[in-house]
Amino acid sequence: MMGAPNEVRVAPDVMIRLVRAMFARAGCSETEAACIAERLTGANLRGHDSHGVIRVPRYLEWAESGRQKIGQTVEIVMENDVMAILDGNYGFGQTIGEQTVDIGLKKVKQHGLALTALRNSGHLGRIGDWAERAAEAGVASLHMVNVRGSLLVAPFGARERRMGTSPFCIGIPVEGQDPVVHDFATSTVAEGKALVALRGGKALPEGALIDADGALTSDPWPLYGDVPEGKAPMPYEGPGALTAFGGHKGSGLNFMMEMMAGALTGSGCAGGPDEPERRRFCNGMLSIYIDTEKFDGQDSMAEEIKSYIAFVKSARTADGHSEVLVPGENERRVMAERQAAGLPLAAAAWSDILGSARNLGFTEAELNALTAA
Ligand code: NAD
Repeated sequence: MMGAPNEVRVAPDVMIRLVRAMFARAGCSETEAACIAERLTGANLRGHDSHGVIRVPRYLEWAESGRQKIGQTVEIVMENDVMAILDGNYGFGQTIGEQTVDIGLKKVKQHGLALTALRNSGHLGRIGDWAERAAEAGVASLHMVNVRGSLLVAPFGARERRMGTSPFCIGIPVEGQDPVVHDFATSTVAEGKALVALRGGKALPEGALIDADGALTSDPWPLYGDVPEGKAPMPYEGPGALTAFGGHKGSGLNFMMEMMAGALTGSGCAGGPDEPERRRFCNGMLSIYIDTEKFDGQDSMAEEIKSYIAFVKSARTADGHSEVLVPGENERRVMAERQAAGLPLAAAAWSDILGSARNLGFTEAELNALTAA
């Protein structure tokens, strides 16, 4: 391990080994523990530290309190040839998401088009994981996600929380190369990016938050408030809110995630009027799958995509930009760099993870063995 003074660099395989051991110790099967460890580390590898291992302490707290459950299988509420309504029963999103996409893939391979409506899932993490899993099977997919019980974002024109960070993701396979995947929160920044900034990581852009006085800010404090010693920061304790991305258009897209992933799936929206208690936290996800192999233009599709990517990238750059990137490109670059140099983590975030491991009963000798290169 090495890095700048307030940063450590951890090799991806070391991180997977440690996180896997921690979730196995917490009661997950080896398969589930490996799935959680690989997906969280995978988010860090792609530069989405907000949805990576920084979540380990919080996930463990949730497993302990029963808010998120270990060892669950999706329950089929209703299904026909092309669609399935699924209940995740608050299982870990890493395994529930995988099972959901696999049901969608089975149906889409028979009929060319399929839909899954997932309710009551534990945190589904980086939604790009699900588009990439579909793309590996030659399937284009679209994922609309909401977060019930997570009031973090002020709608356009407001200073009070009414929405979640509701991610939206579209992926399309490209024969002979990585898929094109666009995956983002409909808030200016994902909540986890505020968490990363709070723990001393990358700073937030100005206007990512709005404080209780209605002033835009880059300070994550209005989301978390003061964090009690030894507790994981909770984004519901602060007096301010994240902002929605893209002004009224992004705020409206966020609202439509609540409609599709919250109301339509039966998972429920972020919140409602006159509710003194926060709703139970879960992700809802409406996914649409399209088998690109069923399209008659399939032979030319990859060539058309590659040619269009080259065309877009050839545009003369704007001031302050050295090149034009297409969706998914940044993640691939960061992954290549981090595979070689290790995952950069704020020292506080690393110490939180090790603290959680100690709480699980790992001895210093065990930790030294798990974190040895
Ligand atoms: P972000 O702001 O980093 O945007 C990422 C997207 O923008 C990617 O598609 C990326 O390829 C593209 N991109 C990045 N730089 C670019 C550039 N210079 N030019 C063109 N395109 C570029 O992502 P985010 O909003 O911080 O979201 C982070 C992650 O959080 C996502 O994986 C999302 O799924 C996840 N998330 C999950 C939940 C949940 O409840 N499970 C909630 C919110 C967010």
